[in-house]
Amino acid sequence: MEDKKDILLSIENLNFSFDTQRGVVNAVRDLSITIRKGETLTLVGESGCGKSVTAHSINQLNPMPPGKVDSGAIMFRGKDLLKLKKGEIEKLRGTQISMIFQEPMTALNPVFTVGSQIADVFLTHQDISKEEAMKRTVELFKLVKIPAPERRVHAYPHQLSGGMRQRAMIAMALASPEPGLMIADEPTTALDVTIQAQILDLLNDLKKDVGMSILLITHDMGVVAEMADRVVVMYAGRKVEEADVFSIFESPKHPYTLGLLNSLPSNTKYKGAKRLEAITGTVPDMRTIGAGCPFENRCAYASEICGKEFPSETVLDESHSVWCHNYQKVEEV
Ligand code: SF4
Repeated sequence: MEDKKDILLSIENLNFSFDTQRGVVNAVRDLSITIRKGETLTLVGESGCGKSVTAHSINQLNPMPPGKVDSGAIMFRGKDLLKLKKGEIEKLRGTQISMIFQEPMTALNPVFTVGSQIADVFLTHQDISKEEAMKRTVELFKLVKIPAPERRVHAYPHQLSGGMRQRAMIAMALASPEPGLMIADEPTTALDVTIQAQILDLLNDLKKDVGMSILLITHDMGVVAEMADRVVVMYAGRKVEEADVFSIFESPKHPYTLGLLNSLPSNTKYKGAKRLEAITGTVPDMRTIGAGCPFENRCAYASEICGKEFPSETVLDESHSVWCHNYQKVEEV
């Protein structure tokens, strides 16, 4: 049983759509997830599966309109984030919920030095002098392992490498007075492999040291293996499997999860990996999805019922659930 005291954030039955000129796109459907204090939850799936829309719903960063919350709640420290006014959610964004993106340039202002932007976070929330704010910024640069921090705080964003900009974004998240949740949306996708590993190590260290929770959005099961405590696999706006990271890699039960794992090189934590295999077909048109399982057109295990009804949850054990009519046929690996 999940202890409510351990839960930092819970998304409850979220339905989110975009009203486009070409029809209504149901981007997230009946999604419920919880993030516990001090854990890393990864949302994994292909582009367009709804993971970024989910993450941006937490911070109210989806464009509205055309975006619209059809129903649901996002509870964080006793408040429903979907009901907060613009000013209230903006305050929360800079203090208790932070976000790092795939490309930090989109979040950093190019005409101010990186250090001054981080010092501003201190100045907004604490009654300290500019000198003290800059001193603390240098300390943060040291914490996130930016070399020559006294010099680098005076650099403009374009003068830093991609990896260093991402470290600066992480520093900015840590400048808030009570960092509770960091949302990291594909934070290493644009980086070289070696820098990627360094950033993931840094996030893991900070999670332990600062005690924050991380919601990590990724399409990369290798990143999941490095980072996750628990994993939610999404497909076409729906949750299709949820488990602790060990169960996902040792005993995947949804055909889509299996497909993601089979597309990994064999030198990974996934013991079933043999050779690289692509998942055939493409994600269905989100405007025309019917009542059945959206993975049906790509699934080797599909049966008649799959086209008619979306499967209900099967609880395999206290940390592992799957939404599939034929999960028992998915071969043991
Ligand atoms: Fe495949 Fe049916 Fe399971 Fe969907 S419900 S993943 S189509 S077997």
